[in-house]
Amino acid sequence: MELEGKVSLVSGSSRGIGRAIAIMLAEAGSDVVVNYVSNRDAAEEVVGRIKRLGRRAVAYQADVSKTDQSMDMIEKAQKEFGLIQILVNNAGITRDRSFLKISPEQWHEVLLVNLNGPFNLIGRLLPNMVESKWGRIINITSIVGQIGSFGQSNYAVAKGGLMAFTKTLAKEVATKGITVNAVSPGYIETDMTAVVPDNVLDSVRQLTPMGRLGKPEEVAIAVRFLADPRASFITGTIINVNGGMYM
Ligand code: NAD
Repeated sequence: MELEGKVSLVSGSSRGIGRAIAIMLAEAGSDVVVNYVSNRDAAEEVVGRIKRLGRRAVAYQADVSKTDQSMDMIEKAQKEFGLIQILVNNAGITRDRSFLKISPEQWHEVLLVNLNGPFNLIGRLLPNMVESKWGRIINITSIVGQIGSFGQSNYAVAKGGLMAFTKTLAKEVATKGITVNAVSPGYIETDMTAVVPDNVLDSVRQLTPMGRLGKPEEVAIAVRFLADPRASFITGTIINVNGGMYM
């Protein structure tokens, strides 16, 4: 129970990787602020799972790309839970289109959720972490931000930017008891990859030394590790969780 007494906020935690992270942090002893955009029932299911583990959990609706909604969620959550010292920036979207066909809306939407989302949540929570002299910020990036991917220029820029943000922030807060790290998944079985055509997933399996897609829990365990108070000399790093696809 290494996270006993801590409170975590996991953005986009009603399903997929975020859901697995929220549950695993609760298994480690943390209370969890669950965030969702539209599927309240799914978020409440996650809350139920966490409560059955004996931890506190509440689901808050907020689009993290919107500053006012992010602020509102954090204000309500802090009233309920007190200090939030573990932040997992998991919420993310794709709007795939080759660059010649991409619209400005598709470009901006992906940057707003995947990059401004973390900006909003970190901006609001970091001062409290600094004041309390302890914090863990864990950003979920992507292999696409490291190696590029056809039709994903918007997503690659956002995730690459999030990795650069991770390293810069890690340096800025290194002496303040706060670590800032990224977990970079390869291809994981979630709703996000369910829309990827079968032939593309077949070639992903071929390019992955382990010959398969990953599971959300295989990403969540890396987050749990980084959140652990004992992982106190690890900052500015990117943990790849990709079955060896990029090393
Ligand atoms: P998913 O689509 O199943 O889940 C994404 C979650 O983010 C959903 O709960 C969604 O509601 C939430 N979300 C989306 N926009 C939001 C917003 N504006 N505000 C708040 N929440 C929002 O996808 P997933 O595979 O679980 O993805 C989780 C993270 O992992 C994302 O950042 C994604 O980019 C990253 N990732 C996924 C894969 C993969 O193969 N699945 C690979 C690399 C990185």
